[in-house]
Amino acid sequence: MSVNQQAHTGPPYGQPQPGYQGYQQPAYGGQPLPGVPQSQYGAYNGPMPGYQQPVPPQGYFPSLGFPSKGSPVSLNSDTSSLAPNFIGSLRAPPTSGAPPPATGASLPSGHLAYSQFGHGDVQNGIPASAAPMQRPPASQPFLPGSAPTPVSQTSTFQQYGPPPASVQQLSNHMAGMTIGSTTASAPPPAGLGYGPPTSVPPVSGSFSATGSGLYTPYTASQGPPPTSVSQGLPLAQPPFLGQPISTQRLPTQVPGFAPPPSSTGIGPSSYSPATGAPRPPTMPGPPLSGQTVAGPPTSQPNHISSPPPPSTMSGPHPGPPMSGLHGPPPPTHPPQPGYQMQQNGSFGQVRGPQPNYGGAYPGTPNYGSQPGPPPPPKRLDPDSIPSPQLNELPPQQKPRHRIDPDAIPSPIQVIEDDRSNRGSEPFVTGVRGQVPPLVTTNFLVKDQGNASPRYIRCTSYNIPCTSDMAKQSQVPLAAVIKPLATLPPEETLPYLVDHGESGPVRCNRCKAYMCPFMQFIEGGRRFQCCFCSCVTEVPPHYFQHLDHTGKRVDFYDRPELSLGSYEFLATVDYCKNNKFPSPPAFIFMIDVSYNAVKSGLVRLICEELKSLLDYLPREGNMEESAIRVGFVTYNKVLHFYNVKSSLAQPQMMVVSDVADMFVPLLDGFLVNVNESRTVIASLLDQIPEMFADTRETETVFAPVIQAGLEALKAAECAGKLFIFHTSLPIAEAPGKLKNRDDKKLINTDKEKTLFQPQTSFYNNLAKDCVAQGCCVDLFLFPNQYLDVATLGVVTYQTGGSIYKYAYFQLETDQDRFLNDLRRDVQKEVGFDAVMRVRTSTGIRATDFFGAFYMSNTTDVEMAGLDCDKTITVEFKHDDKLSEDSGALLQCALLYTSCAGQRRLRIHNLSLNCCTQLADLYRNCETDTLINYLAKYAYRGVLGSPVKTVRDALINQCAQILACYRKNCASPSSAGQLILPECMKLLPVYLNCVLKSDVLQPGPEVTTDDRAYIRQLVTSMDVAETNVFFYPRLLPLTKADVDSDSLPAAIRNSEERLSKGDIYLLENGLNIFVWVGVNVQQGLIQNLFGVSSFSQISNALSTLPVLENPFSKKVRSIVDMLQVQRSRYMKLIIVKQEDKLEMLFKHFLVEDKSLSGGASYVDFLCHMHKEIRQLLS
Ligand SMILES: [Zn+2]
Repeated sequence: MSVNQQAHTGPPYGQPQPGYQGYQQPAYGGQPLPGVPQSQYGAYNGPMPGYQQPVPPQGYFPSLGFPSKGSPVSLNSDTSSLAPNFIGSLRAPPTSGAPPPATGASLPSGHLAYSQFGHGDVQNGIPASAAPMQRPPASQPFLPGSAPTPVSQTSTFQQYGPPPASVQQLSNHMAGMTIGSTTASAPPPAGLGYGPPTSVPPVSGSFSATGSGLYTPYTASQGPPPTSVSQGLPLAQPPFLGQPISTQRLPTQVPGFAPPPSSTGIGPSSYSPATGAPRPPTMPGPPLSGQTVAGPPTSQPNHISSPPPPSTMSGPHPGPPMSGLHGPPPPTHPPQPGYQMQQNGSFGQVRGPQPNYGGAYPGTPNYGSQPGPPPPPKRLDPDSIPSPQLNELPPQQKPRHRIDPDAIPSPIQVIEDDRSNRGSEPFVTGVRGQVPPLVTTNFLVKDQGNASPRYIRCTSYNIPCTSDMAKQSQVPLAAVIKPLATLPPEETLPYLVDHGESGPVRCNRCKAYMCPFMQFIEGGRRFQCCFCSCVTEVPPHYFQHLDHTGKRVDFYDRPELSLGSYEFLATVDYCKNNKFPSPPAFIFMIDVSYNAVKSGLVRLICEELKSLLDYLPREGNMEESAIRVGFVTYNKVLHFYNVKSSLAQPQMMVVSDVADMFVPLLDGFLVNVNESRTVIASLLDQIPEMFADTRETETVFAPVIQAGLEALKAAECAGKLFIFHTSLPIAEAPGKLKNRDDKKLINTDKEKTLFQPQTSFYNNLAKDCVAQGCCVDLFLFPNQYLDVATLGVVTYQTGGSIYKYAYFQLETDQDRFLNDLRRDVQKEVGFDAVMRVRTSTGIRATDFFGAFYMSNTTDVEMAGLDCDKTITVEFKHDDKLSEDSGALLQCALLYTSCAGQRRLRIHNLSLNCCTQLADLYRNCETDTLINYLAKYAYRGVLGSPVKTVRDALINQCAQILACYRKNCASPSSAGQLILPECMKLLPVYLNCVLKSDVLQPGPEVTTDDRAYIRQLVTSMDVAETNVFFYPRLLPLTKADVDSDSLPAAIRNSEERLSKGDIYLLENGLNIFVWVGVNVQQGLIQNLFGVSSFSQISNALSTLPVLENPFSKKVRSIVDMLQVQRSRYMKLIIVKQEDKLEMLFKHFLVEDKSLSGGASYVDFLCHMHKEIRQLLS
């Protein structure tokens, strides 16, 4: 299709792309933590995977113009349709040229084209040089799953548990929630935050635990779930629904791919000397025969160490004085001409206090039995949001709301509009620069040459041609990339292309991979790179004739020529040490100190593993997972277990010299689950008994990671450590920590230290882990401060996940923990991953955000990358762009699959470029912008005072909006606030970021919670940040029990609540069910099984299973939401006027927060003031 080819006519031989050899980039590796070595990551001895072409440059002809097919300046899909309301008022220069969507030539039936049978005459041209046809790449290669027929590959989607409900991606979230803060005098809420504040014991167990997780593609975030999931419940979360997530490729298809036999075994011979000859364990525990295992080794003298020092946490922090914006003091505003006063109700109508319910805090309108006056249908023209005339109101006593909340841009309305406008048609990716539907809309994607928005979303799909324009607008240019995103069953997984021993075809100069935008010339004998313009010879085996339009006749038969996303099978050149990798290993490392045992956690984990091990990730048709497993328990010393299949009983080996960790056994540590099933089961039965009487309270931590790392090194494989840990590691050992929590640092210049690790030890350890492909997933069960900022360093830099369950209680928290663990173990994950983003001349990737490690300025390294993780990449200009050429991105991820197959996943995206600012503003995506801004700010707190970070955010957004007003909006009164249609939610969402616990913590938010949330957000995708910052609020009593749909969401404000109704609020980490005091008794009976409001227990962690339509409906909604999230959300019941309500109110983000965060209305006024100042 012409679309792809036209675009690149760009300056034929433009300048060599500057970035390839590593332009300087400010040092920061994913995490600008002090002490992160920036040195070259040396593990990859072999060719830098994927980024080094083993083939010597050949045939590079400096250009002379091969005819660059004059691409018609396309008329581009005027995305203006997206902004109906507003665009009209803009000068709307034609958007820069994206070619019109493919016409007849397009792939009507999706990817049918890839059927082996190709398309009719496509076969006509056999390469003159006739590369042997023996391995016709076109036919065998893509076996996306097992099914050769592309289009209908629905079955290939296998996700553990229910499939993502909707179009949106799974996102990984973590638990936690933030809490608003209370006023200084308010008593600290029972347990706010991501769990109960660690400093406050759980009041009722009700939500003592922290974070919640869930898992589900965020998709359905608001609307009726796609039909596939809508039936919701059943799919909900059967513990092990079917197969583990897998990508289903047939490994057997890979000729020549076979892990070296020697590497698969764990025989001693396979251990590399690097790990040192196995030293005899210092305490070769006697073989555990049956009960002999009992009892921790004597070396472990039941040392009863004094209990960990009490948390130094200082008491509730007084309502932090907020920087920047207290409710922007409207009173200071000058009279605003354009503001229509309240009288007419159009804007700024002052709501009278509602009768029945006293607002919890001053300034907040009360809510009465009515959900507030029904919003008048009038929707404010975003062009003319009036500013309040504050001067007419006495400063202090005025009601907070001077503007009718219904008159300012509503997130709910924007979401609903997008859903109704764009939810019905598939999003076809054949057009350059097309803005996708919002993440909250359910839609299907058809790949016709650009990567699905499930893989890549951009802050803008139309980039300014010059850096001056970009600077003027202040709109950050960034892409949020989720390379291994899970797709809904209706969509096709990326095809796997196998080019045999020669490997993928790449540009000789910049090493970009073959993609739809490469232009073939000279009858097909060469191709010109769309990224750097270099001309490269087409390898003989890849030759194909061109048709009259200049397109290869096998265009539709090759994913890499016609699709935006696909995979290549990597050759040995892309492997470490020029050796194909062994299948990865999972090592389970269980804290068996006093608290872990006493809480029942150890027994719970062991019981769960017995069944969970049968669901390890596996590929496609493999009957069993290739992943090997190993087990370690620890407190102050480490216990390794030999679970070799030939043993009658597992054997324990103790290493008490934690200062110099080594693995005491080689053979029998990592085993195949099926082969060692009996021994493993015996071990898991014995572990809880062995440590049942332990008095050991101290733990080590770094040696545990070191042990896992050494084991993987010895086995010469990548893998993942699952560490279950309970306390601050104060035992004498490397990486020992001290309690340095100090909330008095909040709002001081030293606040940043709370987010930084207290020692650089873990940064160095992380570097070693990344070099080995050792990913660390951390499950924390703290009863007090355990320094997440430090313990999380290795997890963060290896691409792992952290889960936190504060005050873990078996009864209320086990479901959440087990669901998280199951999903975490089963989800799709790639190991030993390296990602690079290439761009066409003119822009380059300059900054990266996410959970990874960088040893240079271009390669993002991750020991593990799972389907929920995203990497946000920022771009900057280094040259002028052209409207004709547009801009291209190519994200290449080299990774090892769960079966040990080395692959490259490629995502391509073409963007438009513009010379008019209006085009930029018309093609922005606010949700993505917020994702970027939040990550930018959350990284900023590592180095700057929080106030500085907040002020910078406000300033940048004010500049973005001021630039629009100045250059794009039609002339209007200065008193009017004018927002671009695509950014009309920027103020409300930005305010949510500013009020978040990381940037404006309430007194009950713990230091660990903040560090935890900071890390979580850094890996979130756009859908996750969207619901995290602006939670979804659903009136349950309005739900139609006869339908599968969700009730329409309402805005997050107390005013919208009626005391006669029940609501559900979710933010990806928690689910609240709020019950009004006047709810009918019948409803209470139906939902909670009790006869009155007062009898409802807020200690419930699940809703009772009752046989009536309302109960079923509500539980189905809860289950549906759980399935959509990447972590299991903690359910919290909140009764109106109950103490927990304060926690709930923290999430009513349009209201003023108890920690000083501004209300939406106030913040909008504040932004307006800032904008006016910039313009004056
Ligand atoms: Zn190139």
